Amino acid sequence: MNSHPIRTIVIGSYPFPAWLEHASLHLDQFGKADIDEMIDDAVIAAIHDQVTAGLDVITDGEQTRLDFNLSFYGYLQGIERESESPRLWGPPAHDQRGKHKLTGILSAPNGLGVVEEFNRLKRLAPAGQHLKASVPGPFTLSGRLLPNSQYPDRLAITEALLPVVRKELDDLLAAGCNEITIDEPSMSCYAYKMDTGKFVDIFNRTVEPVVGKCRLSTHLCFGNYKGHPVGYRRIAPMLPDFLDLKVDEVHVEMANREFAEIELIAEFARRMDVAVGVIDVKSYYIETPEDVASRIETCLKYISPDQLAIAPDCGLSQTARWAARKKLANMVKGAQIARSKL
Ligand SMILES: [Zn+2]
Repeated sequence: MNSHPIRTIVIGSYPFPAWLEHASLHLDQFGKADIDEMIDDAVIAAIHDQVTAGLDVITDGEQTRLDFNLSFYGYLQGIERESESPRLWGPPAHDQRGKHKLTGILSAPNGLGVVEEFNRLKRLAPAGQHLKASVPGPFTLSGRLLPNSQYPDRLAITEALLPVVRKELDDLLAAGCNEITIDEPSMSCYAYKMDTGKFVDIFNRTVEPVVGKCRLSTHLCFGNYKGHPVGYRRIAPMLPDFLDLKVDEVHVEMANREFAEIELIAEFARRMDVAVGVIDVKSYYIETPEDVASRIETCLKYISPDQLAIAPDCGLSQTARWAARKKLANMVKGAQIARSKL
């Protein structure tokens, strides 16, 4: 159960400050100590914006996932960076991202870096602030790796990544993390055309070591790279199988879909808490506190306030920081209005 009614949370990512984005393109011009300092400063900025907004749960804003070498793929052995983007020009979208080649046995001898991120967040966040870590699930993580003769398809790559993610979750728990989100947007994007029972099996085997030992949630959206969706944006195909996901909370994208299928949160609520996306991360319309309160009222037709959390639709990394900051502040104000009416 939620710690209190209408908990205000974030998914994980937060926009990079402009200077960090610029610096991330020129990391070779910085020493290790410079980069460590830069990352601390960026995380401090992300913490500041989230704490100022008044959120119940904050993250490190994923400020360290700067480039290939500092992203999850940089931690994996058995892959070779594919630098070629398949499409260099035209509108920015997910099809411009290159895929990485598999060159050997997939492993991550030093983990995926999330434990390090969490320890940094713990060190820099105000005492007593509730913290969360986000880890990509193995199916989502497999999306940018190209099958080969050893790993013939995406599911084979997923199986190889499953123990890697499972170990990261275990290590996060050991580091004192008590709230973890597994990002599996690829599962929600492909639910309409793939075996959802298989997805649930993969998911539950991944989280098995930490089930019941921390608050566990999953983020299911329809894509947000460069602010664009990539999925068939319907929740119905996920049901009923996804009700068997071993999580305390499921997060669904609603604001950008104008609350289509909002009634389906009642299905999820039979088995788990639901975090509803009430902030559209793709729109520069800034939701007012009253907008948020009215969206919460819509949710409360289908779920009790004790089981409801609210969040943006996705991470905020693709939304300009000035807008992200205002949206989070108004989300918290909207929750306060809704709570005062309970
Ligand atoms: Zn997302």
